[in-house]
Amino acid sequence: MELQILPIPAFRDNYIWLLRRGRHAAVVDPGDAAPVLAYLRENDLTLDAILVTHHHADHMGGIKDLLRHYNCPVYAPRLDAIPDTSAPLDDRDRVPVLGLEFEVLSVPGHTRGHCAYYATNGTGHPLLFCGDTLFGCGCGRLFEGTPGEMYASLSRLQSLPKDSLVYCAHEYTQANIRFSLAVEPGNERLRQRARQVDARRASGLPTVPSTLEEELATNPFLRSGAPAIQAAASAHAEQAINDPVRVFATIREWKDGY
Ligand code: ZN
Ligand code: FE
Repeated sequence: MELQILPIPAFRDNYIWLLRRGRHAAVVDPGDAAPVLAYLRENDLTLDAILVTHHHADHMGGIKDLLRHYNCPVYAPRLDAIPDTSAPLDDRDRVPVLGLEFEVLSVPGHTRGHCAYYATNGTGHPLLFCGDTLFGCGCGRLFEGTPGEMYASLSRLQSLPKDSLVYCAHEYTQANIRFSLAVEPGNERLRQRARQVDARRASGLPTVPSTLEEELATNPFLRSGAPAIQAAASAHAEQAINDPVRVFATIREWKDGY
């Protein structure tokens, strides 16, 4: 049976990703149980697994309620010490879900333990569930990590196959693109993406997933090595910056105050 992946909107701009195959489902980052329970009931599905990327409430607040209705494993990064975790995960661990085998990638920076889930044997395209580390045209804030750690985490994600589908946990793309255009106004792919994203949002459609290829071409946080990004960071900091980690740190700080 075919695997389906769909977003369950939660709060203001979260996506809880639901994977389903036949009558079985799994969810990634259930910050709220109510919309997940409603979907499972309406579609007569059982919940086989809960996957969590990090310890923020908008990603794990619904675990307890889901466990009241379904007895299933809770996979979450060990370092983030999330209550009700049944399988604490370390880097490179494997997570079997609905016939897929996800690889756990530690991507610290947003939180200390933040992990991403990556699988190649899915719908044709490799699948990446990256929580609040990589966003459409953006990246997560550095709450518990250094720019160097986040840079290394993003480098790890950007080395995955370019046709990977990037399932992030927030609908932030449109606002992120406004900032990205301030950094790199001459990027034609970015301007094209801005038009596509505006059209999708005007119709109430999600802009997630994107592909890694699209992020590599348009996301300033993956482009610290590009001359245009280095020039923009240098102009913003009023000094020459070309070390990629410092370029990344400068852009991240710029975005924090944007
Ligand atoms: Zn978060
Ligand atoms: Fe979040």
